[in-house]
Amino acid sequence: TKVLVTGANGYIAVWIVRILLEQGYAVRGTVRSAPKGDYLKKLFEKEGEKFEYVVVDDITKDGAFDEAVKGVQAVLHTASPVVFDVKHPDELIKPAVHGTLSVLNSIAKFGTEVKRVVVTSSCAAILEPHDEGYIFSEKDWNDFSIKETEEKQEKAAPIHQYRTSKTLAERSAWDFVKGKDFQWDLVTILPPFVFGPLLQETATKDSLNFSTNLIYQAVVNPKTGDELYAYAGNWVDVRDVALAHVLALQKEAAGGERIIVSAGYYAWQDLYDELGKVPTPLPDTPKGVPSSTRAPPLVYSSEKAETILGIKFRNLGESAYETVVSARERVFPA
Ligand code: NDP
Repeated sequence: TKVLVTGANGYIAVWIVRILLEQGYAVRGTVRSAPKGDYLKKLFEKEGEKFEYVVVDDITKDGAFDEAVKGVQAVLHTASPVVFDVKHPDELIKPAVHGTLSVLNSIAKFGTEVKRVVVTSSCAAILEPHDEGYIFSEKDWNDFSIKETEEKQEKAAPIHQYRTSKTLAERSAWDFVKGKDFQWDLVTILPPFVFGPLLQETATKDSLNFSTNLIYQAVVNPKTGDELYAYAGNWVDVRDVALAHVLALQKEAAGGERIIVSAGYYAWQDLYDELGKVPTPLPDTPKGVPSSTRAPPLVYSSEKAETILGIKFRNLGESAYETVVSARERVFPA
């Protein structure tokens, strides 16, 4: 079986490619330029012809994936900008939405062997203001960020601009399949912050992707005061989220589902507590100020990830530890 992975050089995608290859799949990755593909070719050298890449320099162009989808039985679409310093929300929304539609259009025309399509969405696509204690699930859609971005455009908070791009992209995928009778079905995977070891090219400091940098910075510049106990986010390990994508290809019952893949919520103090419990803690792990005080968190249901995909989540200490070690080895050598 051959699988197409878009944005194959991204943090999450390289782990997806690795797991696919380990499980015996052949993989065709799309990247925006040849050097990014050459890095992957070298990383997966021992797989020989089982890994190939194609350059799709502009994913928003009509027909961009027409060739790439030929001869594959499944497509994992992960490519989408994860940046928070754009001048206008369209810089996020256009590639997110048109990239998704362009892949789906190419599959509809030329993906004659495709049986399943998995799109990487995000908890960003469900995260709306709700009362304390609300449990977010796949029923939720983040219309709040869309409204913010429509009203304020480039003045909307960067996080809302990003969330808008993810919400509109996922919705465009579901709208695309609605009422149609394709020989493939759709699954969307919704992770919160993704942590864990890096496999992607990390030639410069800027190449540390957004979510791993959060953990790295929290260790290098420790949080203090009330911030220690504030809700910091939900998280999942990159290996678990990558495996979720692969399982989403394999499990019949995943077809037609949105699936949240979250290991749980954390406050920074939780991170420091858990980093202190790993077998060989880093000498400079911040300790924070241990306390059972915590601000109310946002809670996501991971029921579908557990029941449909059968995911068992890694723990925060292990994941955060490996994030920091990996960032130090690859991006910030002493
Ligand atoms: P990375 O930044 O590591 O990877 C992003 C990938 O998308 C890269 O291959 C990148 O290519 C490609 N990409 C970015 N912008 C564009 C664009 N304008 N046109 C074409 N391709 C583009 O991020 P992640 O691995 O973290 O993210 C992968 C997916 O997971 C995204 O869809 C993201 O929204 C989603 N996600 C990530 C979370 C996280 O915490 N990391 C949480 C929830 C969802 P290039 O290298 O050429 O820029």
